Amino acid sequence: MLPFLRPDLAQLTAYTPHPGGSDDSDANVTSPQTIDPLDTNESPFDLPIALKEKLADSYLSNLASNRYPDGEHLRLKQAIADYVNESAKLPVDALTTANISIGNGSDELIRSLLIATCVGGAGSILTANPTFSMYAILARTLGVPVVSVNRSEQTFEVDLAAAQMAIEQTHQPPIRIVFMVHPNSPTGNALTEAELTWLRGLPEDILVVVDEAYFEFSQRTTVEEVRQHPNWVVLHTFSKAFRLAAHRVGYAIAHPTLIGTLEKTRLPYNLPSFSQTAALLALRHRQELLETIPLLLKERSTLLHALREEPTLQVWPSKANFIYLRLSQKALDGTAPQAQERGLNQLFQTLKSKGTLIRQTGGGLRITIGTPEENQRTLTHLKQAIKTLHPL
Ligand SMILES: *Cc1c(COP(=O)(O)O)cnc(C)c1O
Repeated sequence: MLPFLRPDLAQLTAYTPHPGGSDDSDANVTSPQTIDPLDTNESPFDLPIALKEKLADSYLSNLASNRYPDGEHLRLKQAIADYVNESAKLPVDALTTANISIGNGSDELIRSLLIATCVGGAGSILTANPTFSMYAILARTLGVPVVSVNRSEQTFEVDLAAAQMAIEQTHQPPIRIVFMVHPNSPTGNALTEAELTWLRGLPEDILVVVDEAYFEFSQRTTVEEVRQHPNWVVLHTFSKAFRLAAHRVGYAIAHPTLIGTLEKTRLPYNLPSFSQTAALLALRHRQELLETIPLLLKERSTLLHALREEPTLQVWPSKANFIYLRLSQKALDGTAPQAQERGLNQLFQTLKSKGTLIRQTGGGLRITIGTPEENQRTLTHLKQAIKTLHPL
């Protein structure tokens, strides 16, 4: 360890997009011919060629590469505000550019929110596990303490009594942000009415962050809360349903004062010109881009039903573009406590050796819904993996 580095960073594990490795270091395993990347919840569909051509054209004709990007993102903010009002069925102009801040992915916005509320001993954050790992990772990089509570093992609802107690008993520093994903990753469940009521009742000195990265799949949103609660922020992204993960564009929807502070804390030219152009183009062609969603939802349902036929697995319903599962109680009967994780790891490794990359996280496996062909291979590979499970 270099002596000038913060000692707490030595213990920190960075976010790994492909844990278990997407490298080919496993020399004695013959590489599968087809790799299905079903571990990061992207859309399986690239932008249509015609849109890529439009994007390339605008790079050739209007984008000066020697100039800094538009640092205010006003055109994109306007297009986003229009889309948010439309998709949340709010009146036109209910939310305006003053309610939008755009980040280099929602990840940047999560960090800006932490800087704006918690850094320098000003606050701790609360998460409910299992959930998106970036909240805790980014908090730790900033020296912000993380308090976590559990979810029900059956429904993955947040233990609200524990959450309330954590808020009441955390003092040095007090909890300043509660992070919720709606629907949650990796477990796929949307916030319940009880959870929403609890969030609405939180005091004004606690910021409620509702991360709706999967909104276009779930069609559930809490953006109307932003108009009544200045301590409420909703995060959306272009990385999932909008098929633009390569371009790193996310946005926050909140009260103008919070938005103003996010604008102060972000880097000056955080969003490359090409990404701004791509996001504008995606919004202009949103109908075409989002047309793939019904197919993905149908695929989710087909895969879910097929997986439920497997007595070895317990499979949860999902409101997002992924499925979460664990080994069933039946499969675990009479085994050691570590059997669940060991069994999941075997399935994960076997799938990987066959080219199906999924994520082992939060005590389960999370599988992104891909193309029909990919999902068929997922099912085939998973069935084979179950057959070759070693005794647990
Ligand atoms: C994928 C995802 C995001 C998106 O992050 P970007 O930085 O916008 O790509 C945010 N939150 C959750 C819970 C996600 O799963």
